[in-house]
Amino acid sequence: MERDVAARYDLPALNTEFEKRSAAEVIAWAAAEFGDDLAVSSSFGADSAVMLHLATQMKPDVKVITVDTGFLFGETVCFREELAKRLNLNLLVYRPVISRDEFLAEHGRMWRSNPDACCAFNKREPFERAKRELGIRCWMTGLRREQSETRKCTPIVGRDHAGLVKLCPIALWTARDVHEYLMRHDLPYHPLREQGYLSIGCQPEEGYCTRQVKPGEDPRAGRWAGFDKTECGLHQFDQGSGI
Ligand code: SF4
Repeated sequence: MERDVAARYDLPALNTEFEKRSAAEVIAWAAAEFGDDLAVSSSFGADSAVMLHLATQMKPDVKVITVDTGFLFGETVCFREELAKRLNLNLLVYRPVISRDEFLAEHGRMWRSNPDACCAFNKREPFERAKRELGIRCWMTGLRREQSETRKCTPIVGRDHAGLVKLCPIALWTARDVHEYLMRHDLPYHPLREQGYLSIGCQPEEGYCTRQVKPGEDPRAGRWAGFDKTECGLHQFDQGSGI
């Protein structure tokens, strides 16, 4: 397996080009360039239906990688099943190497004491394993610049820390664009969104990892509230990826 796939590409030039292109055009480029070595990563969060719909319109059998940490909301698992059926997803669910009960017995409530380590074990390791096992060379995700301060410089195309090409085809989209797309295609939001959960991850216990967002707060303010943590670690670009 090629180790530094992204090194073959002039990422700044591609970014300049993709800034002028539609999300569908960017995905079409990736489908033609990477074929079956392309994946889309999804958390089945608030507006995940957009990227899943866009990706499957361009490549119906695109691999959909999701990580089930064992600490997801029950609603997320139901939403995942509903979308998988409706969009006929080629869904690949990856899980941590030990069960939720084994994790609790060995590590206790690690999300309270060390959420970075908890995410590394329960999210990042399964995701990195998925990319390796599936031979992925390029993966797509639904990050948008508008979502938070830490995402405001998200490049459309970049290099992940493993050297793979990472695409964010809807990086430029606003919440309004997302809403209009969902309505136009009769696609659902995550059922918890209407209760004020604008960004949805784990909820291992009440008050931890995901909470409702108050009016005026940034959409990701409800993630890891009380900690100096804004990302699970899946979304880190190497330097020099273009923007
Ligand atoms: S979001 Fe919370 S429970 Fe889920 S893996 Fe990260 S720290 Fe652990």
